[in-house]
Amino acid sequence: MHEPPLVLVVEDNAQNLELVEFLLEDSGLAVISARDAAEARQHLRIEAPDLILMDMQLPGTDGLSLVGEIRNDPAQEGVLIVALTAHAMRGDRERFLAGGCDAYIAKPINAVTFVDELLALLEHGAGGRT
Ligand code: MN
Repeated sequence: MHEPPLVLVVEDNAQNLELVEFLLEDSGLAVISARDAAEARQHLRIEAPDLILMDMQLPGTDGLSLVGEIRNDPAQEGVLIVALTAHAMRGDRERFLAGGCDAYIAKPINAVTFVDELLALLEHGAGGRT
């Protein structure tokens, strides 16, 4: 774990990215960001974040296949992955968890509880979820 914890935010929506960056930095976390899968891969070649917030609707990419790549990368072993999605559909949570995500948050995010959820995950790990 980095000190402070390092979070990679993968999000193509500029407004949402700005909000998430603000909330995370305001809570003392270190943040790096990517607008698409290619930028995310660039970061992951040189960084091993503690947590990845992954928008599942990225341009030209199925978020779950990017999650699968990360789960197959030994350099990223143990990273927490939180799926973010707009237009939540029935079955999303199960599909994302089965696909390698540790948690799932629907957009629009709740600014009051969002960071607490991430801090709890960082503190207790995916196994600490109830
Ligand atoms: Mn998106």
